[in-house]
Amino acid sequence: MKELFPALLNNKDSVYLDSAASSIKPKAVIDAINDYYLNYSCNIDRGVYKESISATNKCNESREMVAKYINAKKEEIVFTRGASNSLNMVAMMISETLNDGDEVITSELEHHSSFLPWLNVSKHKNIVLKFVELTSDAKITVENFKKVLTNKTKVVALTHVSNVLGYKTPIEEIIKLSHEVGAIVSIDGAQAIPHMKIDVKALDVDFYSFSLHKMCGPTGLGVLYGKKELLEKYNPVELGGEMNDEVSIDSVTYKAIPHKFETGTMPIASIFAVKPCIELLNSIGIDNIEKRSVYLRNLALKEMMKMDDIIVYNASEESSIIAFNIRGVHSHDAVSSLAEDNICIRAGHHCAEPLHKFLKLSSTLRASFYFYNDEEDVRKFIDGLNKTIEFFKEVGYIG
Ligand code: PMP
Repeated sequence: MKELFPALLNNKDSVYLDSAASSIKPKAVIDAINDYYLNYSCNIDRGVYKESISATNKCNESREMVAKYINAKKEEIVFTRGASNSLNMVAMMISETLNDGDEVITSELEHHSSFLPWLNVSKHKNIVLKFVELTSDAKITVENFKKVLTNKTKVVALTHVSNVLGYKTPIEEIIKLSHEVGAIVSIDGAQAIPHMKIDVKALDVDFYSFSLHKMCGPTGLGVLYGKKELLEKYNPVELGGEMNDEVSIDSVTYKAIPHKFETGTMPIASIFAVKPCIELLNSIGIDNIEKRSVYLRNLALKEMMKMDDIIVYNASEESSIIAFNIRGVHSHDAVSSLAEDNICIRAGHHCAEPLHKFLKLSSTLRASFYFYNDEEDVRKFIDGLNKTIEFFKEVGYIG
């Protein structure tokens, strides 16, 4: 499998366990990006010359592929700069329609990109931000969600899969309950889509946001899925070229969806790379991808559970992530020591500071696995951890 990923071959002495931050890109994706720059390099939509028409067709094909992948209509797929951009757009477009006293439900489990846009709305509008009470192990449950849902709830903005703990939010039930009170549901799917089948129609979700770079796709490209009638109802949040139909000095009309939400020149090279990205995921199968990631994670976890100086925070979860710390050692010290052995994992609050405050932790270490990892990576990771623990014992951090 590693032979499909040049960056893994070019860094053979490294063990890449940071796929929750960004996945490694396969050669087919890189080739598609190069194809754009080598053979097209022009803009789309506007040109009537053959290169522009052909590039436009390829971008349309990419949109259709994304739509098919998540069971949406092609006009419901808005290309954005990434999940953060998509989530901000949702908050901005809905916030225009909120009134005094309206309630928005979110949680302390959120990534900052899911939470901060709504915190910002609450600073500018007289709305009430409500938080689903997390269980003691920081999970969102339907039972606790029901406690904050009221007839005043207008928006529910939650993560599908936590980027720190790998927990899955029971969004199916939450979406049903939210719709019963007429609330709109915006889901942050950045960590879900690389690991599970997403069917937006079956979920009946209103908005679903994700980034391509976490699913073996290019950077700089995200998706905002929105139900057709909602995208048609809301105003665009960014104005400029390409998204309008007719402009005069005192008025503007917008293009049809999804184009009214896509302002200016899009990241065309990245859009070219959508096709090989989705083809790769489809050829392996998302269930196999997840099975392999969880299998490797569990291999590592089993060894880590035997180590007295390791504290794991999400051992019981079926996930591709291990959230942990080394007893007595700050995560930044630990991650630097591991980096000396070319073990690539993450330390910090992972853009989820409210969650770390809830857990009363200043930071955590995160090892995240994907299908291109192998048993050798697990072995080197565990060896690296043992070496790091020994080092900190020698210098007296661990008693
Ligand atoms: N939400 C979650 C759960 C994430 O893990 C991330 C990426 N760390 C984002 C949102 C933001 O994604 P991006 O940086 O691609 O905009």
